Amino acid sequence: MPSVDRPIGRNIEVMGGETDARTSERLERLGSSAVMWALSLKMNCYVPASDVQGGATTLAALPEFTRALEATSLSSLRRRASTDPEATIELGLRLLTGIACACQPAAACEAWSQIGTVPGVTDEQMARAFMLLGAQLLLGDVPPGQQHPAEAMSLQQVKTGAMALDEAAKLGSGAAPHVLFHGQRLVAMCAADPLVKRECAPFMTHVVRALELRERDMAREERKVDRRREARPLRFICANPACRVQSTRSRLFAQCAGPCDDEFKPSYCSRSCQAAHWKLSDDQGHRAFCAAGVVPPPDSLPSADELASVTHSRDDRYTVRVGDRTVSSSSVTPNELAKLRETR
Ligand SMILES: [Zn+2]
Ligand SMILES: [Zn+2]
Repeated sequence: MPSVDRPIGRNIEVMGGETDARTSERLERLGSSAVMWALSLKMNCYVPASDVQGGATTLAALPEFTRALEATSLSSLRRRASTDPEATIELGLRLLTGIACACQPAAACEAWSQIGTVPGVTDEQMARAFMLLGAQLLLGDVPPGQQHPAEAMSLQQVKTGAMALDEAAKLGSGAAPHVLFHGQRLVAMCAADPLVKRECAPFMTHVVRALELRERDMAREERKVDRRREARPLRFICANPACRVQSTRSRLFAQCAGPCDDEFKPSYCSRSCQAAHWKLSDDQGHRAFCAAGVVPPPDSLPSADELASVTHSRDDRYTVRVGDRTVSSSSVTPNELAKLRETR
């Protein structure tokens, strides 16, 4: 059996992007606790945007992150904060997360709002501090199930949050998940409440622009994926007939690394699916067709109907057909998803 040529079964969740029910539920459970903040702040401030990834990887990195914060005492941070912009940002993070000190969100906001007065501060540092300030103010303390976040916050808080976020977008943090996420929430709040709109809209131009740019980029990316999908449909579906989980991105699946032709080269959600497909009986198993120039019989390939049932989505997710429904998730593994087919 040829080995698969890349890691498989990868799940990516970006906080602040579109989330499915399970991710939202998880976030809700974490609430505005220190852990959630530490996670999301780590991703936004300590990790380059290109490396942002969620779930298990980030959780595993948390102890190290916490240790790094604890290595500097709060009092020494305070001393440095008036002359070192990085210390100002970190002081806010520390006060907010309550790691090795008391949790003081208001003091954190106060620290970040002072960033402009610190000598030598760069635009990038100001953008980060304002992003944190805006995100914290706009996160509010929304009770579970509350429809309208603005109801849980004062109008002044929303407005100050909007201004801070806009400043961050203007200074170059427009593509940061926090800016986009809270920007989207702000837009929703404006749509739901004319008062919020009247007070905040004038201070949201850069945020709105950032959202538009993001929208445009995503639409472009989606068209690219659609074209790729049309050209190579087998890259988006697990070839194991017992599985047939689909993915929204070809890179989520690994291809057979054997000599079979590209046009018929199967992709798999997992090594076990590859193994299962490999040794199916002779007229179905890939073992019989994994050679150059061999055309597998049509009934051994995913049907046109299966290929047509693809879910188009903006994020990395897996989908599976269960009867006439399509079940889709960005957090459940393909294997768990495939089990849904058996239990119907
Ligand atoms: Zn599979
Ligand atoms: Zn092959």
